[in-house]
Amino acid sequence: MDHTGLLVILSSPSGAGKSTLAKRLMEWDSSLQFSVSATTRSPRPGEIHGQHYYFTSPDEFRDMVKNEQMLEHAEVFGNYYGSPRGPVEQAMREGRDTLFDVDWQGGQQIRASALGGHVVSIFVLPPSLPELERRLRTRGQDSDEVIAGRMEKSRAEISHWAEYDYVLINEDLDETEAQLRSILTSERLRRDRRAGLGAFVKQLMAEEQS
Ligand code: ADP
Repeated sequence: MDHTGLLVILSSPSGAGKSTLAKRLMEWDSSLQFSVSATTRSPRPGEIHGQHYYFTSPDEFRDMVKNEQMLEHAEVFGNYYGSPRGPVEQAMREGRDTLFDVDWQGGQQIRASALGGHVVSIFVLPPSLPELERRLRTRGQDSDEVIAGRMEKSRAEISHWAEYDYVLINEDLDETEAQLRSILTSERLRRDRRAGLGAFVKQLMAEEQS
């Protein structure tokens, strides 16, 4: 049965497994929409507009912020990044959920936005900090210097864990994925999120009488 589309926020320190979990969740449920960020930074080789980012000019970006078309935005090293509101509202009209991979600041802004009432937020913790560092190293994406920077930032990110509805400790990936699925399944079944339920029950009772 249809439910009102949710805004599912996934946050974690870098390396805890958020992207891996997001990917698995999208494979599990193809109706889930991933929130593609808008950015003013230049595309890197291979990056596709609309798939990896919406590449916009600084003027366009500022206009979108002014017209309240960004659910959240931030400036990072001189570039703007943000989550456009349009695709989220479109998904909600279709009863589909949107998944956000944002940090605690993005999470706070989305919760404070007009769509904040539809947010389900999940924080992913690593089992330990040495394990977090090990995962960053085995991912093989970053230099030692970048990893040291990520580890430094991880404490600030983790300090916001209590702002989230759910907190998962990503020790075993399969288990964490199963927990994420349970959260989504339960949240979708909440009475207050099922617009068609009243009509269904009314019909159910009418059938019983005839
Ligand atoms: P994030 O998106 O949070 O930065 P990633 O999803 O890129 O993190 O995961 C970081 C690395 O850790 C990847 O190499 C991923 O395969 C690995 N990883 C994720 N979850 C687990 C887990 N539960 N156990 C072991 N390795 C994991």
